[in-house]
Amino acid sequence: MSTAPNSVQGPVLIAGGAGYIGSHTVRLFQQRGIPVFVVDNLSTGHRDAVTCDFVQADLGDRAALDRIFAERRPRAVVHFAAKAYVGESVGDPAKYYRENVVASFTLLEAMRAAGCGEIVFSSSCATYGNPVRVPIDEEHPQHPISPYGRTKLHIEHMLEDYSRAYGMRFAALRYFNAAGAAQDGSLGERHDPETHLIPLVLDAAAGLRKDIAVFGEDYPTPDGTCVRDYIHVEDLADAHLRALEKLQGGTKAIKVNLGTGQGFSVRQVIDAARTVTGRPIPVRMAPRREGDPAQVMAGGTRARDVLGWVPLRPALEDIVADAWRFHCRRRGR
Ligand code: UDP
Repeated sequence: MSTAPNSVQGPVLIAGGAGYIGSHTVRLFQQRGIPVFVVDNLSTGHRDAVTCDFVQADLGDRAALDRIFAERRPRAVVHFAAKAYVGESVGDPAKYYRENVVASFTLLEAMRAAGCGEIVFSSSCATYGNPVRVPIDEEHPQHPISPYGRTKLHIEHMLEDYSRAYGMRFAALRYFNAAGAAQDGSLGERHDPETHLIPLVLDAAAGLRKDIAVFGEDYPTPDGTCVRDYIHVEDLADAHLRALEKLQGGTKAIKVNLGTGQGFSVRQVIDAARTVTGRPIPVRMAPRREGDPAQVMAGGTRARDVLGWVPLRPALEDIVADAWRFHCRRRGR
């Protein structure tokens, strides 16, 4: 982990701090001595992943938020809370508009009423939609193709408008494929149902699944399988700290990609998992998954230029090894 100077003023409200990326960010802030507390409704998060003060509340509950802001007077918000299954968002968009857009709007209104003017927001490369060029820099057109991606873009637009009209300072951090786990194996990725490639491949390595389905091998990529930009969750956490420092230093608006700029194919991920785990991983070819672009990779140098951020754990084998350590600890292997 890099050594960003600790100039963040707290307390910091971490919305969705019981989730995957949120819990790693809480841990980092605590390590830096920044006072934090988590607000999470535990709809998908895990109470045992929260290592600080915790308030169970829904971001759509304005009265609860007003109480929280009045009692705890957060200086800033880091906002992870969201529904994040692309496929589910296609079948049940109302859930995504309510729990992502409406809940974020309610949070922004509670912030405005309380005079809290700094927010770091979990955006996504899904706001770009099908890439018209790769790597995808921040100027790439934003035409999301799923309701999930559209909710993230709507929230970015709200932040821009609130910034312009009310002086709210914001960072929209567009994650590529969040992956890996805390290097000590204590925190990691636990989705239910799990849909992400690396945890599923590790389940197959552990014999918890009989194989891993490879969704498509006829893409126009070097080995025919989809290429993604996997970014270590601890590197993501570091970017949140840096973004908040910048906002508190007076920067008004930050919109940056968070990826390594390197792409790895589904086959390369499976091979890395075979190397790391030393286990055979049976593979089954399956049809393409609807909506999957062939290649998604971050471009641009904005995160480095604006935040001074560079990924410190970009190697695929390190990312997979950290995820495997968490997997083994969780499953008691
Ligand atoms: N993938 C796969 N088999 C699986 C899950 C995912 O082949 O069981 C592929 C998927 O098509 C994509 C890549 O792995 O190309 C990463 O998928 P994931 O769901 O982890 O992240 P996404 O890129 O969709 O956000």
